[in-house]
Amino acid sequence: MLLVLLAIVSAYSFTNKSKPKKVKKVIFIIGDGMGLAQISGAMSETNERNAFERFNVIGMSKTSSSDNYITDSGAGATVFAIGKKTFNGAISVSVDSVAYPSLFEMMKKKNMATGVVVTSSITHATPACFYAHVSSRKSEDDIASFLLQGNCDIAIGGGTKFIKYRKDSMDLTALLQRNGFMVKTDTSNNFTPLLANKQVYTLAFDGMKRKLDGRNDFLKQASLSAISQLNHNKNGYMLMIEGSQIDWGGHENNYEYMKTELYDLNETMNAVLDYAEQQGDVLVVVTADHETGGLSLHPNKENKKKFIANYSTGGHSGIMVPVFAFGPGAENFGGIYENTEVHFKFKKLLGLE
Ligand code: MG
Ligand code: ZN
Repeated sequence: MLLVLLAIVSAYSFTNKSKPKKVKKVIFIIGDGMGLAQISGAMSETNERNAFERFNVIGMSKTSSSDNYITDSGAGATVFAIGKKTFNGAISVSVDSVAYPSLFEMMKKKNMATGVVVTSSITHATPACFYAHVSSRKSEDDIASFLLQGNCDIAIGGGTKFIKYRKDSMDLTALLQRNGFMVKTDTSNNFTPLLANKQVYTLAFDGMKRKLDGRNDFLKQASLSAISQLNHNKNGYMLMIEGSQIDWGGHENNYEYMKTELYDLNETMNAVLDYAEQQGDVLVVVTADHETGGLSLHPNKENKKKFIANYSTGGHSGIMVPVFAFGPGAENFGGIYENTEVHFKFKKLLGLE
């Protein structure tokens, strides 16, 4: 009996070793401009469940771009999408402006599903890198046109301007519909789920309303809706969710702005982790492209249990950013590495090479 049991156990561990479980479902969450000071400060001042503490694999990503120790969000997301360091402002093109295939493009070749949900416009630098290739992040009209290629099945966020009210006075709606997308464009900031596997849904003229100005739980609702649509694809999916405006609060050195946007992301992360825990086959990775504001938490002489949020720049800083991973394959994200490695880890786990 014991021998039989031992045989079963060793056969089991053998199969486990020789066939590492392939990851088919990835939820990649980016807090733009979200460094450790942002996370530490904000999460010390809330009673909400700390989603960051639900991860047991933590790594560190070195964020520099090809031409600058301090990256921008274009170069900062290009590394995730195509695995190459590039110049600041670039959208998934190399240093010599060559378009290399992105994770989304490789996934579409394998008939997997892809999507982005963001609080900026869907054509802003971070989401753009996942489905477009242009040498300047400012070309948001051009970036929107890349959606027609069909490498991003679901795009939800702001940016009605770049679909309907473009400089070339083209309206992309009919073209997108002809390519199989359900399209909804308004400026309501009010999300109602669309039941479509392919959809372009913009709810604001440009970026979404700030949390401080009354944005609701759009990010959580839209993310969960996108996940349920992407999950229809049996080959698997990647959804990129961005807390875009954590960065914008940082640029304004507006701690309240940053903090409320980070809470919004925390709430979304908790919902995603609840789902991933229940499913068991979803890899969730959370990181940032860079830190914004050079934020530090200074001593507060009036109240020694509190801190004073002190910004050292209106731009980005060059400090490493944390990477949090949960689910199958999470163990690959421990350690300290260049930001490009995030791309190669996903590529390997998803079997894209
Ligand atoms: Mg961004
Ligand atoms: Zn920024």
